[in-house]
Amino acid sequence: MNFNINNLKNIALSHKAKFEKLSVKIRKLNSQKADKLFHDLHHKEFKKIDCLKCANCCKTLGPRLKDADIEKLSKHLKIKPSEFFSKYLKIDDDNDYVFQSMPCPFLAGDNFCLVYNSRPKACKEYPHTNQKNILGILNVCLKNTQICPIVFLIFKKLETELQINKK
Ligand code: SF4
Ligand code: SF4
Repeated sequence: MNFNINNLKNIALSHKAKFEKLSVKIRKLNSQKADKLFHDLHHKEFKKIDCLKCANCCKTLGPRLKDADIEKLSKHLKIKPSEFFSKYLKIDDDNDYVFQSMPCPFLAGDNFCLVYNSRPKACKEYPHTNQKNILGILNVCLKNTQICPIVFLIFKKLETELQINKK
């Protein structure tokens, strides 16, 4: 599928009902089988998308930062954590540390991450489709079909593999 990242949200929204129906079927799988399905597709679909041509997660979503992330980034930037907080962070409605604004302040014009080796854990793990216990984050994955083309493609492939809505 040829992606224009600007259209992903609309395309994914048009698949929302089908993907929700698919999730009901996924939830009936045992946890190990669900993990294996997602992990295999994660590796296949990741090869098809160039994150440097996308950066949609860095432009729109942004990570939740933990204390360890803040320490690492402050060290990387050679500033105190308190200065890092006042320059870059705020606390959101869920009481999590997030960037004050998006796109991420560390996203360069060429979509490279300026703090790549010290980036937050949540950035390293995004889009989470190779994590253990995928059933526990299935709702997050569903939402991510609207942000990450890799997750969208995984759900499209799962549709075929689990024989949902085949015409
Ligand atoms: S992880 Fe997904 S949303 Fe982020 S840059 Fe890669 S393809 Fe785009
Ligand atoms: S820290 Fe890097 S990887 Fe994380 S959102 Fe910012 S630019 Fe993207």
